[in-house]
Amino acid sequence: MSTSAVDMDSVRAAPTPTCHMVAMPYPGRGHINSMMNFCKILASKKPDILVTFVVTEEWLGFIGPDPKPDNIRLASIPNVVPSELVRAADLNNFVEAAMTKIEAPTERLLDQLEPLPTVLVAEIFLFWAIGFGKRRNIPVALFWPMSASMFTVIQHFHLFAQNGHFPVDISARGEERVDYIPGISSTRLVDLLFSRNDGSNLQLLHRFLEAFSWLSKAQYLLFSSIYELESQANDVLKAEFPFPVYSIGPTIPFLDVAENISLASHDDSDLNYLEWLDCQPRSSVLYISMGSFLSISGAQMDELAAGLRDSGIRFLWVARDETIKLKEVCGDMGLVVPWSNQLRVLSHSSIGGFLTHCGWNSIQEGVFCGVPFLTFPIVADQMQNSKLIVEDWKIGWRVKEDVGAGSLVTREKIGGLVQNFMDLESDQVKEMRKRASEVQQICRRAIAEKGSSETNVSAFLRDISQCHGR
Ligand code: UDP
Repeated sequence: MSTSAVDMDSVRAAPTPTCHMVAMPYPGRGHINSMMNFCKILASKKPDILVTFVVTEEWLGFIGPDPKPDNIRLASIPNVVPSELVRAADLNNFVEAAMTKIEAPTERLLDQLEPLPTVLVAEIFLFWAIGFGKRRNIPVALFWPMSASMFTVIQHFHLFAQNGHFPVDISARGEERVDYIPGISSTRLVDLLFSRNDGSNLQLLHRFLEAFSWLSKAQYLLFSSIYELESQANDVLKAEFPFPVYSIGPTIPFLDVAENISLASHDDSDLNYLEWLDCQPRSSVLYISMGSFLSISGAQMDELAAGLRDSGIRFLWVARDETIKLKEVCGDMGLVVPWSNQLRVLSHSSIGGFLTHCGWNSIQEGVFCGVPFLTFPIVADQMQNSKLIVEDWKIGWRVKEDVGAGSLVTREKIGGLVQNFMDLESDQVKEMRKRASEVQQICRRAIAEKGSSETNVSAFLRDISQCHGR
């Protein structure tokens, strides 16, 4: 096993940065993307900051070639967690490894860093950073790359037991509504974190609760949330913590899109799908992606492929490992690719909708681009994200009404739903698309000068610069 390393050659920032921030993401694509995008926003606003971004060697290989500003450098620790390629196969084991095995090598690395770190930004699962920061007198900001709504549910989890909703038989009571969690509107039990009956979500939940028990010891809290889109949850959480809480979403690569930068490590080899999109009519293509690592069952995949083919609608499907198989069954109207530059695709004028597993990055990206959603949540926060889209923001429809094991959505249902969803002449669809544009405007205003996210990012930068050297 090799030792920790910092790419010193990559540091071309000012020789004496006023602030040296060490960013420590959880080792998964969505998490790394979210934290890196946040770092890029910081780096663009404060050229004299130095960011050291710590990843495993595997991730160094994945993201090393990606373009990044001069004042962000990568540092690596050995591969102490299972490979990203098998993450989905045993998610609980992976989360446990991330929570327990990353600490020692990262702390060794932190002690060798030059200049000394002045602030640590750690994803909440890496909560041990708080203990390290305390011992070294370095302030710690915990970073939450999901919705504020999901955060408030975990933060107030004890209320479920108090209200007779935990433990609970979801198959019998899933349609019951929860209206006692501060900051979120009435929500079906089935749309909450612990709703799957196979036990895996419960284990995940316990991991979340363990991480959350450390929160009160942090110095700052960062939410990847657009304040206006979850204002009640954000207000509740700001009031509950004795330290600064910043809503800094969307943490998506909007700076890269503005500068027309592609994500080199994945898609430079095959950009044909963008040319294909150029040839399709405006708003005519449904984009389909289940994110970076999760999959639906083989049987469900078959139904989805047949439903899409039978719908006659144009589609672009990111199918990762299933690409070759799906190419054969999808017919002429669809293009199936292993990976895409997602934000570029969603920004394309021919995209008319997004069928998604509801990962938080994907949601933020779709919102930023003003596309309506078809939701197909799989695990963790995704059911709640789907609920935000369908019930609160009203910018999408559910493909799957509940999230129980074994409930297959048929090709007939999918085909019909996709046809209705992509019917630009339908009044219902027109209304949904109008809402999607309104929500997009809220998102764009948040990141514009003096918008809520821009103001919060500036406040965070000011606060961490002031505490330098304390
Ligand atoms: N992504 C991408 N191209 C793809 C599929 C996914 O660039 O073909 C990116 C997407 O833009 C997002 C991340 O991978 O930044 C997936 O994160 P998300 O939170 O949506 O889901 P996860 O993969 O973590 O479940």
